[in-house]
Amino acid sequence: MTRRIVIVGAGIVGSSLARELAGRDGCQVTVLDRSPAGRLYGSTGHAPGYVGVLGEAPVLTGLARATVRSYREITDEHDLTGGAGFEETGCLEVATTPAAYETLARRAAAAEEEGLAARLVGPAEAAALAPRLVDPETAVAGLYFPGDGTARAGLLTAAQRRRAEARGARFADGAEAAGLEIRAGRVHGVWLADGTLLPADDTVLASGIWGPLLAARAGVELPLTPVSHPYVYGGPHQARHPRGPFVRWPEHHAYARDHGDRDGIGTYDHVPLPVAAAELGVQAEEPWPGEPFDGAVAAALALLPPGHRFTPAVRLNGVFSVTPDNLPLLGPFDGLPGLWSATAVWVTHAAGAAAALAEAMDGGDAGAGFAALAPDRFAGEPAGELRRRALRHYRDIYAAG
Ligand SMILES: Cc1cc2nc3c(=O)[nH]c(=O)nc-3n(C[C@H](O)[C@H](O)[C@H](O)COP(=O)(O)OP(=O)(O)OC[C@H]3O[C@@H](n4cnc5c(N)ncnc54)[C@H](O)[C@@H]3O)c2cc1C
Repeated sequence: MTRRIVIVGAGIVGSSLARELAGRDGCQVTVLDRSPAGRLYGSTGHAPGYVGVLGEAPVLTGLARATVRSYREITDEHDLTGGAGFEETGCLEVATTPAAYETLARRAAAAEEEGLAARLVGPAEAAALAPRLVDPETAVAGLYFPGDGTARAGLLTAAQRRRAEARGARFADGAEAAGLEIRAGRVHGVWLADGTLLPADDTVLASGIWGPLLAARAGVELPLTPVSHPYVYGGPHQARHPRGPFVRWPEHHAYARDHGDRDGIGTYDHVPLPVAAAELGVQAEEPWPGEPFDGAVAAALALLPPGHRFTPAVRLNGVFSVTPDNLPLLGPFDGLPGLWSATAVWVTHAAGAAAALAEAMDGGDAGAGFAALAPDRFAGEPAGELRRRALRHYRDIYAAG
């Protein structure tokens, strides 16, 4: 018997899920996205691509491990600088105070417990690993994770899509989902903006920051909060191989990436700027607000070695999701059969999350901790309080510890 599955959203999560589901017994997979062909209007199109395996919770570490395994297999995509979809550049966490060093030492112990390679290094070695990004004068120590890496999320998404299509999935570009068809307390498909009904036995919201809008039309609350985030790129320079490690300064809530042909830096060290769902455009990008981003970016740039501080050539105000416990919203909606969520998932966890959800949809074992990700786990809690909790986590996304 055919099982019709409609996935709303062809970002890295929807495309990875399509790859997992297509070709499974009887599954007929359709993926909708209102982005035109070849474009990614969602957060995936904006992510600088840090993939760090050691998560705040064991379930996240598990999803990240599975994700890295999957991304490593994608070796057929390169961009113009020769960069692959996933590069095992490593990640270097840098402490600039003794207190921050204690955090790194705790992270090193946590990595060991998880069986992840990680080693504490002195300031000179940290600067040698990432000379453009680490200032040996201010670094106290570093924690190097050789197995972490960087993703080119657009390339990975295109590769996942091609694999899904090869297994029979159909992608509809420029197709907007306007609502869900609900009969007798069950979701039976997706209404498109042009008035067409796409019947489905299972409908998956992989629609990122826009997930709550469609969910609300089905009378369901999806407790994710879209939030603005600054990332800036320097001017182009000669492409370098191999790329240096991704660098994070957890106590400063800042991070930087060597993109090969330019450097980039991002920061969480500002008052969180939520974006009301009703105010979202069709792109996961908002106008640059000036302050508080200008000040936060200037402070992040001051962490670089004096000779490598750059003037931003491109300023991005990207939008992604935060949740009240910093975990994805992944799984079935218990109160509304036929509807599933794959939202608030990072690039770091996308392929692993897709594999786990596909397993759950197939009635299999989705892995340890999956139940804790249920999208309705906050049911009954006031929306305003959930939003406040989610925003409190924003600044700590990169303040590991
Ligand atoms: C500036 C920035 C920095 C980031 N840094 C990192 C990082 O370093 N590491 C990391 O792991 N993650 C990072 N992220 C987060 C990461 O990008 C996202 O979590 C991830 O890309 C989400 O993927 P997705 O497929 O769920 O959502 P999206 O990529 O947003 O895809 C959702 C898709 O759904 C479509 N859609 C929505 N509603 C509808 C509708 N009604 N009808 C049809 N289509 C619809 C949209 O067009 C969109 O293409 C960052 C994000 C930003 C913005």
